[in-house]
Amino acid sequence: MEKINNIINYNKEIETKLKQNYIKALENETFNSYIKRLNINSDLLMKYTSSLKESCIEFQNCISCQNLDNCPNKIKGYIYKPFQENKRIIFEYIICPKAKKQLYKDNIELFDIPSNIRNASLSDVYKDKNRLELIKEIKQYISNYENNIKCKAIYLHGSFGTGKTYLIAALFNELAKKNVKGIVIHVPELLRSLKDSFDTDYTQKYNNLKTVPLLLLDDIGAEHLTSWARDEVLEPILQYRMDENLPTFFTSNFTLEELEKHLCTTQNSIDKVKARRIIERITQLSTPIELVSKNYRNN
Ligand code: ADP
Ligand code: MG
Repeated sequence: MEKINNIINYNKEIETKLKQNYIKALENETFNSYIKRLNINSDLLMKYTSSLKESCIEFQNCISCQNLDNCPNKIKGYIYKPFQENKRIIFEYIICPKAKKQLYKDNIELFDIPSNIRNASLSDVYKDKNRLELIKEIKQYISNYENNIKCKAIYLHGSFGTGKTYLIAALFNELAKKNVKGIVIHVPELLRSLKDSFDTDYTQKYNNLKTVPLLLLDDIGAEHLTSWARDEVLEPILQYRMDENLPTFFTSNFTLEELEKHLCTTQNSIDKVKARRIIERITQLSTPIELVSKNYRNN
């Protein structure tokens, strides 16, 4: 009997200590308001004061977060969060909103593209009259893709600074949220970088361009083109993607007719045939749409 009494007393003593500890912690205003937000019964909460303190700190870190790279939480990009489960509280690491956003952004690789394009979003797209039809096409494309309905990508042409790259990047970002991977690559830079193409990175990059689920060949036509780059780089990428039915988008300052002229590096007949072949691949892969708008650069 005495043994049982001892156990009861011991349990009571622990309970009192937990309660004191909890009440003391509540004197801290930040902790106090954090606890109120949880909306969980105090009798239960007081058993977990030290874990709650920890999750409160992580929560505060999240609120004042400026940059995910500097996240001080125990697991970067995650918050230690309490959940009530019947008569106990369990703590789990939950991904924070910034890290979640980053997760989809990691699905898109940008090569030589301004970093603001990374944040391109359909909800922020300028909605002037000229681009409403195009925005509709883009939304249709997304819905077709999600429903596994095959349709051609877009060859978006128009003058400099109209938002061509931004719009296609916004489409890619939307699909990236559904975990579809994409690459946006600036064609002139790609072809320039071929000069150093003996580096091992190149083969990997080239294979990725062939096989990535979504590809944007940005600013095609702005490059200084050699027949070698056209026939050994562009053509095989396009051929592969066409054979494999892989969505391939283009942006250009040129119409397809103008691009064809540009692709004829010389006026000899072989070059003309080769240029024609590239245009045929492009038209198999995409539908030309013109974007007429003002120049948004340096706004
Ligand atoms: P283009 O590819 O046609 O030359 P960009 O896509 O690079 O043009 O757009 C030009 C500039 O305008 C970029 O700085 C881009 O971030 C900005 N921009 C274009 N369209 C939008 C938009 N809808 N919302 C926000 N910024 C935009
Ligand atoms: Mg562009």
